[in-house]
Amino acid sequence: MPRPAEPGRAEPQAGFVHTFLPGRVVFGAGSLDQVAGEVESLGVRRALVVATRSARDAADVVEVQLGDRFAGRIDGVTQHVPTAVAEHARAKAHELDADGVIAIGGGSAIGLAKAVALTSEVAIVAVPTTYAGSEMTPVWGETSGGSKTTGTDLRVLPRVVVYDPVLSQHLPKKVTAASVANAIAHCVEAVWTPKADPITEVTAVEGLRALATGLRRTLAEPLDLDARSNLLYGACLAGSALATAGTGLHHKLCHLLGGTYNLPHAETHAAVLPQVARINAPAVPPSKARLEAALGTTDLAAGLFDLFTEAEVPTSLKELGLTEDQAREAAKAFKPTDNPIPVTEDLVREILTRAWAGTRP
Ligand code: NAD
Repeated sequence: MPRPAEPGRAEPQAGFVHTFLPGRVVFGAGSLDQVAGEVESLGVRRALVVATRSARDAADVVEVQLGDRFAGRIDGVTQHVPTAVAEHARAKAHELDADGVIAIGGGSAIGLAKAVALTSEVAIVAVPTTYAGSEMTPVWGETSGGSKTTGTDLRVLPRVVVYDPVLSQHLPKKVTAASVANAIAHCVEAVWTPKADPITEVTAVEGLRALATGLRRTLAEPLDLDARSNLLYGACLAGSALATAGTGLHHKLCHLLGGTYNLPHAETHAAVLPQVARINAPAVPPSKARLEAALGTTDLAAGLFDLFTEAEVPTSLKELGLTEDQAREAAKAFKPTDNPIPVTEDLVREILTRAWAGTRP
């Protein structure tokens, strides 16, 4: 007879396959100063620095510390890596003979570094300043003609990730909350994707705990460095979970909505996740219990909705500009995917109707 599930423990009895990804994490306040040493250890001779505008000061520091290894710089990035922007970055890396790219910023800066690494032999050093988690994954994305192509390739996985909580200390509340919602979505979905396994689940559950704790503390005290550390630690775990568990119903729905209707990436996660959790979580009871304990709630879907509401992240697609007709259209267009319960058009319509209206689960 199967043993009842114990919250806090993963169950390996069924057997599983888990692939550990290579990569090094350097974590701590002030660790920006270690970037140049890490670049040297990788043997990079000519580094291209790619920095989001708000990380310009950090890029200045790195540029000076790199000394002779500094090859050039791209300031300013665009969300979702438009192909024209990617082409420009690749040409610049080629022209500079760069063998390394240092990305300082959120998922957009890291995404641009990945676009370069996809077509040339460059090592990426990522210095994340948001909580999206892209730095821990081998997933790349590029947008062209309004549609986004994504893929997985180990060449784009950053070789070193330097997490310095000081860099995200002044991240505005709105961006903080939305990117935390994005990271939380990686943790929650990681327990029910077809590739989910006990090792990923431990990572995801601890990631959710760190993110929820960090978010609550950051809302009360935005400059609290310990809270910011919790958020970055959570982002690291969330990205690792996404990297091994891959995506499922939730991420695929967000991808469709973001790509087709140009909705903001992180906020879309906050509106959709509670509704997908309402449907999926009851199908994976032990995982649901562990995630609930990590979030500090007795109802995962409602707990997520309440946390996002408290953080003032929009919890309805209506607020993000989607029309009711578009929500219906998206439900029709969605292609079924592997899921703990079968994905029918009716089920997707139910999720999107509630996500559109922002109905509390
Ligand atoms: P982002 O990189 O666009 O940053 C969001 C905003 O925050 C921007 O306006 C940026 O200028 C600002 N910002 C960044 N750092 C700041 C700082 N320290 N202080 C003040 N402002 C700052 O968005 P994001 O949410 O980090 O990433 C979203 C992108 O990442 C999307 O394109 C998404 O598809 C991608 N993503 C990819 C993966 C993956 O595994 N490939 C995972 C998650 C997200």
